Amino acid sequence: MFTCNNIYLLSFTYYLKYILIFNIIIIPLIYLYINFVKIIKKKIKINKSYLKTKIKPLYYVITIVVLSLILHNMLNNSHNICYINATPNIYQEYRKSFYFLEGKDIDKELKNNYLENILTNKSNSTLSKLVYKEVNIIIENDNEEETQEANEKKEEVIEDNFLHETDTNIQNSVYVIDGVFYYPTYIYGNNNTYSGMFCPSNPEAEGFNNSYGYNNYFYTRLQRFIDDARQNGYTITMSTQGCRRYSTQSYYYSTMDSGRAAAPGHSLHGFGIASDLEFYQSDGSVCPYYRNDANCPSMGWAHSNAYKYGLAFPLLNASYKEDWHVEPINKNKY
Ligand SMILES: [Zn+2]
Repeated sequence: MFTCNNIYLLSFTYYLKYILIFNIIIIPLIYLYINFVKIIKKKIKINKSYLKTKIKPLYYVITIVVLSLILHNMLNNSHNICYINATPNIYQEYRKSFYFLEGKDIDKELKNNYLENILTNKSNSTLSKLVYKEVNIIIENDNEEETQEANEKKEEVIEDNFLHETDTNIQNSVYVIDGVFYYPTYIYGNNNTYSGMFCPSNPEAEGFNNSYGYNNYFYTRLQRFIDDARQNGYTITMSTQGCRRYSTQSYYYSTMDSGRAAAPGHSLHGFGIASDLEFYQSDGSVCPYYRNDANCPSMGWAHSNAYKYGLAFPLLNASYKEDWHVEPINKNKY
């Protein structure tokens, strides 16, 4: 089987494929447009001499189309996985992973197999654990037969690399590279870019590490944050609504004061990377709505320590102050 587990060969194939498709479909359309649509619009009389001037370029067009078709058909066969799978999705995924792994100290065969799986559109869920482990990225490991030594190593890795998570697999439109959470740029009319469109209905069955629908890496940070708060004697809880659906956000938006809730499709709650926290007093009561860092110490601790857990409270100084709303500290749109 012919393969192209090589970024240069894949790039070449990818562009070649689209050039051929362009030649076969777009060039004839351009020819038709220039020579005939314009004529119809301008009502130019078609006579023999006029047609003659158009015949020569037609030969070129036909030659290009026929040659492109022949080449396309030769390449587009089931043995040539490289050409067949050179789709925008696979190409982008391969590129992203290739450059991410480039120069990293990682077993060559593992790296090749990982890239090969992307190329052949096979699942990388098992290999990605090994790959991320090799590049010292935190991953949950559910293999219970690990040796003690390996466990210790893993713990070291978590300590060293906490806040440098990398997982290019998309979860609810979000992926993470070196601790930065990437979510889609909102494009009006394109539902796929809206938040709250892909909330899991059964998070744990759908690969989430929590039953609320929070992004796995955001949840891990939140959980550590809340655990450490407890170690320090403070009680904080996270909202059980880990992923807010588009319809719910629309409801909030239409029923709350203007400026209070994000416009539908924009809220980070819908990507599972925001949470509304509840802060408690030492007697177990909830801190009242009118509160501050001094009279609600658990909130005071949260606001001053969040950054250590890769978290931020971006709405502390907003016109509608939300001292409970927490997000990842590093995030970006893609
Ligand atoms: Zn919120």
